[in-house]
Amino acid sequence: MADRGLRRLRPSVSTGFLGAGVALTVLSYLWPAGGWGKGAAVTFLGICLVGVWAGARMDRRRLEREMRQQALYDPLTQLPNRTLFLDRVDHAVAGTKRRGRPVAVLVVDLDGFNSVNDAFGQSAGDRVLVEVGQRLRGCLRAADSVARLDGDEFAMLLVDAGIPEATQVADRVLDRLGAAFPVQGREVFVDASIGITQFPDGSKDGRSIVSDADAAMGAAKRAGRRRYEVYQHDRHVALLKRFELLTELRRALERREFVLHYQPVVRLTDGRIVGTEALIRWMHPERGMISPADFIPLAEEAGLIVAMDRWVTAEACRQLRSWQQRFPSEQPLAISVNISARQLQDPDLLRDVRAAVEAFGLDPASLTLEITETVLMQDTEATISVLRALRGLGVRLAIDDFGIGFSSLSYLRRLPVDVVKIDRSFVAGVATGSEEWTLARGIIRLVHSLGLETVAEGVERAEQRAHLLALGCRLAQGYYFARPAAAETVTELLEQADGRSA
Ligand code: C2E
Ligand code: MG
Ligand code: MG
Repeated sequence: MADRGLRRLRPSVSTGFLGAGVALTVLSYLWPAGGWGKGAAVTFLGICLVGVWAGARMDRRRLEREMRQQALYDPLTQLPNRTLFLDRVDHAVAGTKRRGRPVAVLVVDLDGFNSVNDAFGQSAGDRVLVEVGQRLRGCLRAADSVARLDGDEFAMLLVDAGIPEATQVADRVLDRLGAAFPVQGREVFVDASIGITQFPDGSKDGRSIVSDADAAMGAAKRAGRRRYEVYQHDRHVALLKRFELLTELRRALERREFVLHYQPVVRLTDGRIVGTEALIRWMHPERGMISPADFIPLAEEAGLIVAMDRWVTAEACRQLRSWQQRFPSEQPLAISVNISARQLQDPDLLRDVRAAVEAFGLDPASLTLEITETVLMQDTEATISVLRALRGLGVRLAIDDFGIGFSSLSYLRRLPVDVVKIDRSFVAGVATGSEEWTLARGIIRLVHSLGLETVAEGVERAEQRAHLLALGCRLAQGYYFARPAAAETVTELLEQADGRSA
């Protein structure tokens, strides 16, 4: 910074005096006979030296001024930069307690500004930024400030103003920035997303206030741009928590923090365990056990689900192999794993499933892949061809949570599936002889008429079991029979069943 300041220094006052002094001295020696004696020359030289000294001081001040300008102002728009803005916010916040009035901060981020740069070149982009700065300034009172924080991000500080005033300013900003910018004889439009926060109590520093407004600006962008959002602490905390969880989730697989629990699938006629469903659990070192409902959506969004479910399939196959060896039966024990929507798009899915089955020498028919009904209803053609290929491997396919996605009969007929799992919500009402009972009966009949198997989910009471049996449903899962549990617990259940049948 100082280097640049020195280089940019214009011919200085002290060099001017120095030049004049040297010139006069030389002149007095060249024309000694002239009216000017040596004494006068020395006097001149003295005056010049004093001038040099005074000039150097003035230069120094100017240099300092220039350096300050560079350190605190944006060279393009001449607006305060982030450093100066934060300083002003700090000052304003310090005064909030005394004045009893809050300050508000707006962060204004341009939407689609890069395309102006791309289309018209950087200098056109620069001119737009300068004009944006001027338009923003025009939305404020004299006591308020506007700054350029970074690239296409600006900020505004409203002194003695709360959210109501700030949202009025935000509306004005959206309005003014909404007008065309003339660029190279054309009209160019840029929009903005604005985040707003206010500080009533002087409890925070400038940096965290701007970062709150920034977070709100991010929310405005996600909500569809060209709008403003007011910072909400709870939402921000939830976002932060989500972010933390995501970071930890990324490490969970390599740190071996996932385990599988297994829920027995029971034959309703005799209560025999015919198989299990593998359900993932995250054993978080600090938070304890986390349910899949809390992290699967996150894993799907982050693209981590594919690696996670690859592990689930392999681990479930390994466990099944061990159970099949330990508890041999005419009808070998089966296992189900849940497959997410993302996996159906994964080109390696087939290869991974085949590898898992082959690695443990399983009959592919003892592995069922469960896909939720809502997933199957999206993008049907592509999905159906993946399902056909999977079935070509010999594995079985189940529709999970059936009944909540409003699939039609003709639709169900087109899907290459073997099993339909009836959603818990139907099972819950089935014992009362209510509407759910009629619906469940309809579903079970329909599914059986297509030659498919039904599994009832979430059976919690004896009368639900009795009703399902009466409706002709053969298989069920639920807390009534067994909760999902660690492999060792399920092994004990299998041992007990083995002992009874022996
Ligand atoms: P799902 O496949 O429908 O699994 C059944 C869920 O119902 C399980 O919840 C199970 O614990 C719960 N459940 C079982 N019996 C009862 C009952 O009698 N009453 C009640 N109220 N609930 C019962 P869980 O384990 O929390 O799993 C939730 C969902 O997370 C699963 O629903 C599945 O869609 C997904 N999921 C679980 N593990 C995996 C996995 O490894 N990969 C993928 N992609 N998804 C998984
Ligand atoms: Mg399932
Ligand atoms: Mg289910």
